[in-house]
Amino acid sequence: MKVSNVDIDSHSGFCGGVIRAIGKAEAYLDANPGKSLWSLGQIVHNEAELSRLGAKGLKPIGKDDMAKVPAGGKLMIRAHGEPPQTYARIRELGIDAIDCTCPVVLRLQKNIREAWARVRPLGGQVVIFGKVGHAEVLGLVGQTHGEAVVVESLDMLKAALAEGRIRLGVPLEIFSQTTKSPSEYAEICRYLSAAISSADADSDSDADADSGAGARMNAGARAGAGGLTIHDTICRQVASRHADLSEFARSHDIILFVSGSGSSNGKVLCELCRAVNPRTWHITEPSAINPSWFHPGDNVGICGATSTPKWLLEEAAAAVRALQL
Ligand code: SF4
Repeated sequence: MKVSNVDIDSHSGFCGGVIRAIGKAEAYLDANPGKSLWSLGQIVHNEAELSRLGAKGLKPIGKDDMAKVPAGGKLMIRAHGEPPQTYARIRELGIDAIDCTCPVVLRLQKNIREAWARVRPLGGQVVIFGKVGHAEVLGLVGQTHGEAVVVESLDMLKAALAEGRIRLGVPLEIFSQTTKSPSEYAEICRYLSAAISSADADSDSDADADSGAGARMNAGARAGAGGLTIHDTICRQVASRHADLSEFARSHDIILFVSGSGSSNGKVLCELCRAVNPRTWHITEPSAINPSWFHPGDNVGICGATSTPKWLLEEAAAAVRALQL
């Protein structure tokens, strides 16, 4: 017996930023046979694609090891982008770099830099909804000299408010990492807005109980007076993928979600599938497929993250089609 049907989600596979970075890396390696290209961190969070590019000469390297790039060697900055300190270090070492930062990330970095310049003189703060320690988030925080507050979840936002790491009486501007969940970001923004409104209301009633006119004159310093500016910065390719993927997961009996173990976008999208289809399995490569997951006649859906290559989805589909149940 076999599964009845296997579909690959047409919207899964590399996003534009990853396609561009891999294209630039391959163009360099093809034009310079026998030479290596050093990438600052993993060019894509996918082990199978990394090993394919590794065979062509791509070598991931950590920031602490940049000095090991030999004279005349090339260093590549991946789609996630880097903080200004990295560029300064590259200049200091005299390394020749290929900058593959995704244009969408570059625009986000610029917007955060500008927001920081706006709120800083007013004692305000920049808040970033993103994964703590993620390369893109480090690049974003770097635009604020490390001062932005990063929250990874609603619980983390609540803790930051309770501990006073996010202050309500100052101008706040919030941004999201490009690959986060739109619904979670909306929830975070709603909670922060409500916290500001309620702090504002408390402050108003204190002011009413106070001497009236004098308190009104100090309105600019009251809680909530700074307000919240919400920036819609989730990548369009990711945002539309969320809606499409939910529908794809709902319309299949079982979902195989293929992504690298270090892909944060993969974790978000896999959970999205699991929320609408409990028979969702995460795999990093086809050899991890377990026949016991399947029932004869299953309608199988195969999908992946923005860092999952199409060829890996096709290999997974072929492995499922070959299963004997
Ligand atoms: S997810 Fe969007 S912003 Fe991030 S690298 Fe891909 S295309 Fe660029």
